[in-house]
Amino acid sequence: MTPYELSYWEKESFFNGIDVAVIGSGIVGLSAAIHLKHLEPKRRVVIFERGALPTGASTRNAGFACFGSMTELLDDLTHMGEDAVLEVVEKRWRGLQRLRALVGDENLNYQELGGYELFNSQETAIFHQCAERIGEFNQKIGRITGHPEVYKVVDDRCNQFGFSDVQHLILNQSEGQVHTGKMMVTLLQIARNKGVEIFNGMGILGLEDGSDGVSLETEFGWTIKVPLVLVAVNGFARQLIPSLDLYPARNQVLLTKPIPGLKVAGCFHYDRGYFYFRNIDGRILLGGGRNLDLETEKTAAFGGNELIRAALEKLLRDVICPDQPVDIDSWWTGILGLGPVKKPIVERFSANVVVAVRLSGMGVAIGTLVGQEGASLLSA
Ligand SMILES: Cc1cc2nc3c(=O)[nH]c(=O)nc-3n(C[C@H](O)[C@H](O)[C@H](O)COP(=O)(O)OP(=O)(O)OC[C@H]3O[C@@H](n4cnc5c(N)ncnc54)[C@H](O)[C@@H]3O)c2cc1C
Repeated sequence: MTPYELSYWEKESFFNGIDVAVIGSGIVGLSAAIHLKHLEPKRRVVIFERGALPTGASTRNAGFACFGSMTELLDDLTHMGEDAVLEVVEKRWRGLQRLRALVGDENLNYQELGGYELFNSQETAIFHQCAERIGEFNQKIGRITGHPEVYKVVDDRCNQFGFSDVQHLILNQSEGQVHTGKMMVTLLQIARNKGVEIFNGMGILGLEDGSDGVSLETEFGWTIKVPLVLVAVNGFARQLIPSLDLYPARNQVLLTKPIPGLKVAGCFHYDRGYFYFRNIDGRILLGGGRNLDLETEKTAAFGGNELIRAALEKLLRDVICPDQPVDIDSWWTGILGLGPVKKPIVERFSANVVVAVRLSGMGVAIGTLVGQEGASLLSA
């Protein structure tokens, strides 16, 4: 983009009198902006979004309304204390309730079809480790969800879905799924209805917090000055604030063409959660496999990875739909924000700047809550 000057009219009419600028219009940025208006309806809240659409993870995810499968929680327990693990589960659970309350189940197309964890013939040992602890997990997580039996073994369903080489299944009965596109369209509508202004195509290259407010350097060479800023750019955050402890992680996703008589219904986690798939509109959405090429996938650039795409396609044909030909409709990628711990960063970065980033692949669940927390911190 060739730099250019702003006219007097543009400065006066578009960028004067902004009270709060939110950078990024994903789940977090939109939830934050809506909450900022809720807290103080009269203030002028704008969102600066780099993409024509929200272009990170929020419009590109799998739409699992999930709060923890058994292997994920056992894995978390190897590097986090039990209290911290349960705290994350509770945050995900509470976040999902906030999302449902804000957007509405109908607009989310929310369906509680359950979440299943698949174990193949190589994974008998890990399955038994999980099965032995189901009672304990049901007790501890039941206190959070109010459901006395969240997890149960449902091996009798292995044949029902038509999978190959799946020996065991553990069901999370409280897991649901949402239509990601409808969720984001509704969040954008709610924000606009509350008076939030959204500027698309507005990439922010840098920010500087000074005595007279925060200067935002735009991709066009001009600078906007605003009193308060909330940074909600998740996996892209180090491009703006290099000192933040997070890194981007790309995820590959494939969508099949409609599959006649599709038996798969629900959310499914495979290989300790590194792969995930679900039904949507008579098709399968399948993603993951980042663990096969971790270093290459530590990137904020969209784009394919042939190694991972081949593994996803093999999983689709060999395990998920072994008995019928399946055509692939499309591929896409999304960018996660990860860090050393599975905890978002919601903190005051400087006097007038709050960051709400590093959603750790859980943003459908916790994004609304994290956005609201960021907004409250900025207003405090
Ligand atoms: C493939 C995939 C599958 C997933 N599946 C699930 C799931 O099933 N369940 C679940 O809970 N979570 C899932 N997630 C995670 C979830 O989607 C994210 O945690 C969540 O969307 C993060 O929201 P966000 O608003 O923080 O970030 P984003 O949605 O990434 O939004 C950040 C926004 O900031 C904009 N931006 C970036 N830099 C700038 C800049 N310099 N200036 C202006 N704008 C900028 C971007 O364009 C983007 O729109 C998945 C993620 C991926 C990628």
